[in-house]
Amino acid sequence: MNGTQMEMNLNPARGSRLKEALESGQFVTLIETQVPPGEMDRPSGIRRLEALEKAVLARDDGRAALAIVDNSSRPDWKAVEFAAALPEEDRDRHLIYLSGTGADRKAVSDLLQIAANAGLRNIAAVSGTVPEKDRSARNCGKLAFTESTETLKMLAAHPCGFYAGGTVNPFQYTPWTLLGSYYKMVKKFSCGAGFLVTQAGWDMLKLQSVAWYLTGRSLFYPHIARLILLSPEKAETIRSGGMPGIKISRDMKKLLDRELSLSKNQFEAAQYRRLELQAAGCRLLGFSGIQICGADTPAKAEFVMQRIRSALEEFTTFPAWLDEYNAFMASTEMAPFADDFQLYDRVLHRSYPFDAPPGTRELPAPDVSFGEKAGYFAKAFLFSGTEGETPGHAGCLRRLLTGCRGCRVCHLPKKSFICPATCPMKLVDGICGDAESDGSCPVTRQECVHHRILRLAHWRNRLPEQENLIFTAD
Ligand code: SF4
Repeated sequence: MNGTQMEMNLNPARGSRLKEALESGQFVTLIETQVPPGEMDRPSGIRRLEALEKAVLARDDGRAALAIVDNSSRPDWKAVEFAAALPEEDRDRHLIYLSGTGADRKAVSDLLQIAANAGLRNIAAVSGTVPEKDRSARNCGKLAFTESTETLKMLAAHPCGFYAGGTVNPFQYTPWTLLGSYYKMVKKFSCGAGFLVTQAGWDMLKLQSVAWYLTGRSLFYPHIARLILLSPEKAETIRSGGMPGIKISRDMKKLLDRELSLSKNQFEAAQYRRLELQAAGCRLLGFSGIQICGADTPAKAEFVMQRIRSALEEFTTFPAWLDEYNAFMASTEMAPFADDFQLYDRVLHRSYPFDAPPGTRELPAPDVSFGEKAGYFAKAFLFSGTEGETPGHAGCLRRLLTGCRGCRVCHLPKKSFICPATCPMKLVDGICGDAESDGSCPVTRQECVHHRILRLAHWRNRLPEQENLIFTAD
């Protein structure tokens, strides 16, 4: 951490213009940029950030700002510290991400103090992702993690009055990854999130579904969709699965292949048009704004904002937008495999039916083996009285059969008798956004522990209680 940490002139509590814009119904555009890579020296990185801020705020209608994210290749310079180098007067307009990867509670608390001292008001808490080089259970076990739900609780308790946000990956295709993501999103609101940002993706059905889920739960919080402006290099990285959490279907890969075979100008034109259509669609679906990744130079940011503005003027009705979107995407299937699970019927073909809220589709019967059933009943016999116990009670048998890690309060009976702290990132409140399309964990290559908990909970007809159960590991 740099000298900013030592700055003790606490900024007086003041509001957040991002919050005002989102809560007054303006459609906000955030231009995403990240902490510069290691080869760039700090003064050059700061100059680049200042130039980008100038270009973005030049629109001066209060609807554009920056979203500043961490760079996993540069763990020594956090987004909060980077953002604190911006001129003070507009820091409350920008959204800053705070990742819990590689940071324990003390490190997160220190970063929050830096943000408070610097007058940064809008913080999105993310659990983060395991760096590629540490993607083995052994290396992962050596890393510190603070789950986003914990960071949100710390943000809510901080005296400076942060405007805190949570994230969700709505691009999920099995019933349990999809519900797991929604349940975790609801927990984030319970822990203090005041707005939401989605993971990036192209599947507008999933974006409408998450918006419907929020409406159905009366969670009328601002929600922002993260969209990507692809460069040929980024398209290649995503095609090869090199961006954790970003899911891509076979059809979408083929579409990108076709676009990559075009001239550079034609490739770019296709990307801008897709971005325009997604941006206009998000507004018509009720999103409060968009966060654009891939446009972090002043010239690109200006151009993107101009294109988005024209698209918002071009599409003012949902049917006109849908016709153009369908024509452009040419029935590209967005699900990574054939049996895509949709929670609602006729998504993207009607607006939210307030008079007759959409029923959810019946979940398919979970595939639970005889061994799993026998194991469940054996553990239920042995451990059904453990709810609420403290770590001192955990014996060898519990450790052996449930993976018990001695959490502060035991919720094994509510967690299908599987200790959630066995997640390699120690995320106990639910599934992370990096889980693979089939529900497997990118670190262990086995079924995600939360996917398994939900699958078994569904078999026992105990799914709904998973939505509100906020856990405590340490
Ligand atoms: S077990 Fe699940 S929540 Fe934990 S890191 Fe793996 S995929 Fe993410």
